[in-house]
Amino acid sequence: MEQILISACLLGAPVRYDGRSCPFGNSRISLWKAKGLLVPVCPEMDGGLPVPRPPAEITPGGGPGVWEGLARVKTRESDVTDFFIRGAQAALDKALACGIRMALLKQKSPSCGSCRIYDGSFTRVLVDGMGVTTALLRQNGILVFGEDQIDEVPFYY
Ligand code: SF4
Repeated sequence: MEQILISACLLGAPVRYDGRSCPFGNSRISLWKAKGLLVPVCPEMDGGLPVPRPPAEITPGGGPGVWEGLARVKTRESDVTDFFIRGAQAALDKALACGIRMALLKQKSPSCGSCRIYDGSFTRVLVDGMGVTTALLRQNGILVFGEDQIDEVPFYY
């Protein structure tokens, strides 16, 4: 059966930068969980960042720009790009080890966002774009959906 990579915070794990989670209730989530198909990841924690941690945003270029060396991930105080790169690689390693071809990740996150992310100005402005982990997964052929796109996840099982 196909497994699905999922942002741990969507399953209720308190791993967000502010120490909270963002549990996402949905009948498909319940079904996939019951079948043991969900493989949780938190790229920011897996990359070595603590909980809580300062919020981070990506400079213009977003996740793809980070991999091209054109954009950076920053908090208001420091550059945390290396943590985000390490966490994305850990998520990809886990996906590949499990033969995963699909991911359901938290929208707007600088790691997990798949359609929209903050613009790097820390003014709550959203732009079209994706996070560092999403970009790497997509570069490796994994389909990534935001939680608001769950109905678009192909139902193979
Ligand atoms: Fe959730 Fe992804 Fe942020 Fe971790 S890195 S808290 S899984 S959105």
